[in-house]
Amino acid sequence: MAIRLKSPEEIAIMREAGRIVGQTLEKLRAMVRPGVNCLEFERVVAEEFRRAGAKETFRGYSPGPQYPPYPSNICVSVNDELVHGIPKDRILKEGDIVSLDLGATYKGYVGDAAITVPVGHVDDTAKRLIEVTERALWAGIEAAGRAKYLADICAAIEDAIRPSGFGIVRGYGGHGVGREMHEEPHVPNHRIRFKGPPIRPGLVIAIEPMVTAGSPETYTDDDGWTVKTRDGSLCCHFEHTIAIVEGGKPLVLTLP
Ligand code: MG
Repeated sequence: MAIRLKSPEEIAIMREAGRIVGQTLEKLRAMVRPGVNCLEFERVVAEEFRRAGAKETFRGYSPGPQYPPYPSNICVSVNDELVHGIPKDRILKEGDIVSLDLGATYKGYVGDAAITVPVGHVDDTAKRLIEVTERALWAGIEAAGRAKYLADICAAIEDAIRPSGFGIVRGYGGHGVGREMHEEPHVPNHRIRFKGPPIRPGLVIAIEPMVTAGSPETYTDDDGWTVKTRDGSLCCHFEHTIAIVEGGKPLVLTLP
């Protein structure tokens, strides 16, 4: 499948889709505290999207016939859950960390972003994990502004994580975004052996580093979706959708 570059008009619509995602995530971030039920997030997303006129990108999503359709409008992944956590009737506890990953479709275009939020006071490892992962996201975004090829972005993400000694998850990563949530190209969070496609105006990608406090090995839970660390270690995920605009600057579409 070829990469579909977006026109300035399409990017303007995608900024609106992204803004809805960013604003909703800020609402959710403010809700995170010990005692909150993970199902609450789902309810607030439904309310916010209805108000904004956006469609829930995640609900019903299936990457192929072997996957059950995704049953919620958000991914809520707690502690050793890395990504694609189906929100459950679960009360967040002091010391947990929770990743909230959200997609909105607005006027036919998708915005996709994720944050990881500490629940009350968390230990130093959790704090550092969140710092390193968010920094890696911004390293990738900054690299997109000077990158010639996709490989330059991938290298910048890896280089931002590597000195921490944390695990860099392979097999999951960022992706092109447009009318579909997942378009070409795949955006690995580690160095790649080829240059990859050129970074040029009209390219819209989600950058989403995934970092573990222990081994980076993962498996998928029996629910068919929730990805967890094999060793049960804490893990973290941040994501923004960005567009390369004329002049080569990255525009972060999913800021509130
Ligand atoms: Mg994504």
